[in-house]
This record gives sequence, structure tokens and C-alpha cells, in this order.
Amino acid sequence: MRKLARHPAPVDSMVYPRYSGIATFLRLPHIRRPSQLDVAFVGVPFDTSAGYRVGARLAPRTIRYCSSQVRIHHPTLDLTTHERIRIADYGDVRTTPFEIEKTFGWITEEFDRIHAAGCKTIAVGGDHGITYPILRAVAKHHGPLAIVHIDAHTDTFDTQFAHKLTHATTFRRAHEDGLLIPDKVVQMGIRGSLFYPDDLKWSKEHYRIMPAPEIHGRPMDDVVAEMRRIVGDAPVYFTFDIDGMDPAYAPGTGVPEIGGLTSWQVMQIIRGLAGLRLVGADLVEVSPPCDTNDLTSITAAHILFEIAAAFAVSARRGDRGGRATRSRPRAARTSEDAGRGGPSRGSARSRRGEPMSAGRKGGGRAGRR
Ligand code: MN
Ligand code: MN
Repeated sequence: MRKLARHPAPVDSMVYPRYSGIATFLRLPHIRRPSQLDVAFVGVPFDTSAGYRVGARLAPRTIRYCSSQVRIHHPTLDLTTHERIRIADYGDVRTTPFEIEKTFGWITEEFDRIHAAGCKTIAVGGDHGITYPILRAVAKHHGPLAIVHIDAHTDTFDTQFAHKLTHATTFRRAHEDGLLIPDKVVQMGIRGSLFYPDDLKWSKEHYRIMPAPEIHGRPMDDVVAEMRRIVGDAPVYFTFDIDGMDPAYAPGTGVPEIGGLTSWQVMQIIRGLAGLRLVGADLVEVSPPCDTNDLTSITAAHILFEIAAAFAVSARRGDRGGRATRSRPRAARTSEDAGRGGPSRGSARSRRGEPMSAGRKGGGRAGRR
């Protein structure tokens, strides 16, 4: 398989131990120029729209350091993500802990800028409120989106304490704005006690809900096949609220619910995304202060690795946000892709806004971190 030249490379963990250096997502370089990237990890440290236990504002930092553990090669997909796609840690979006609307505006602006440069995003929250302003930006560039949503909760309330913008109203707002394709939305892992008997009514009327008990009772191949059928060839956004997993695997979250998905079930769902027209993803609701021995952040780090690998597989489609070109198995990326140049293109200009070393031209550069 052909490797693309000048891909940003992570720090070599067999040369520089994983407990050393400044932590970035998956030890990737910190690059703030989206035009140099196919996919960017973006931290969104914000939890002011969370309705119960907070702390998710601390997740991007914590997951960064926990992600140093993760290695670079995917064993079952047999790929090294950063050799397939240009991927890096973009850093964090600007936020303020005191204003939801203003922060959401900043989130939309910044994700708009990233996607306008042809770069897709994997956001690391933050509470689930952040997904709505991200979807505003992603849908602007890719059109209405299919949504694969893992969560204990549907997050489709109209209001919460009379507020329209909270982590439990995300998909209602996105729906009203026409950012979603309603019959291509699947909500997986839904469960738990309700405030009122008709809490799930709206979601059931508009989306395909796969409650956790249904998933537990079906073979995962079957579940994943249905998910892929629902999404079809539409541009798809994957949003993962860590509370979709059982608290045994992910206790560090604001609103834990028992009876959730196992890490293995979640991994099968994410591996099932590989090859779909992925245009964005997020992982939200990890709350380090609610965690036990970093278990949830470590789990989240491994999940990010899985998500990035799915993006790497999908990139084989040669999809530029246009028509899908299904089944081009193992096809190298197109010459058009390769010709777009790596991080060294634009030299001096491109270094601006890169406080840490970006990319690796020689073996030693990465080691500075
Ligand atoms: Mn939830
Ligand atoms: Mn949620």
C-alpha cells in the first residue's frame, strides 16, 4: 500500500516513552492550519449546558494525556491511520464558562472555518450541547446529515428549565434547523428512567431508536447492518455520548445509566462506520472529576483511535464531499489527494499558529515533544 508523502506523524513511542512530552491527542502533532489536514481532532472544553453533574470541560486535557498510551497501528483493519490521512491535534476551540449562546457561536465559526478548508473534524467535548453548533457548521458544507448517535438519552427535549440550548435539546434544535435527514437518524443505546411517560415520544415519531435492551438482544452484526442500511450513502455524522456505554466501562460521566453498551459493542458499531461517508464525529460527556482512576478517559482515548481509523478507511473512497464512490477497496487515495500536498507546503506561512513542532521532516523533530 502506498504511503502518502509528508503526512504529519505522531511521536514515536518506541523512541520517546509514552509518559514523556507534551500531551496531544494520540501523540499527533499540533497543527492549527486545517488546509494541511484531512481530519482534525478539536477539543471543545465546555460544560455549561450540562443539566446534572458537570466536569466535561476538563475532558479534552485529560483525554489528551490518557491517549498517549494508544499505539498507532490498527490490528484488525491493518492500517496506520496517519499514513492514510493527514490527521493532527488542532487544539481547542475558544469557549467561555459563563455564556452558552456566545460559546456556541464561536464553536460554529471555528468548525465552519475548518470544514471550509476541506478538513473533517473529530470533536472532543465538552457536554453534548456542543454538538448542535458543530452540526450547524458541518451541515453548511456537507448538506443535511445522517446521524449515528450513541447515547443513553435521546437529547430531543424542546426545553430544559425553559432553556432552548442545553445538552438535552441538541437534536431537537438541529432538527428544527434542517441539519439532519430525519429518516437517516439512528439513536443507539437509549435506556434509563424517564421524567415523564412520553419523554421518548418525539424521538420515536421522528427517528429510529435502538434502545439498549434491543441491542443486547440482537447479534451485533445484525445491529450494525441495520445501522449501515439506515445511513446508506448520505454524509454521516457520528456523535458518541460516553454515557451510551455502561457505567462499568465509563463511570466518569454526568448522567450515568445502568444497562448500557459494553466497550466491545461500541467498538463493533464504530468499526461498522468504516467506509461510510463520514464527514464529522464527536465524543462528549466524559467528566474527569466524576471518573475513577481515569478509566473513562482511557476508554475515550481508545474510542478516538477507533473513530480515526474509521475515517482512514472512509478516505479510501476518495470522497471530497461529493458523490460517493463505493467499493474501492484498498485503492490508494487519488492522485488529486496526494497532490494537495502535505504540511510542508506553504512553508513559512504554514508555520504560523503552530506553537509546537508540526509534522516530521526528520526523525528528530518529533522528539522535541
Ligand atoms: Mn446521555
Ligand atoms: Mn447526550
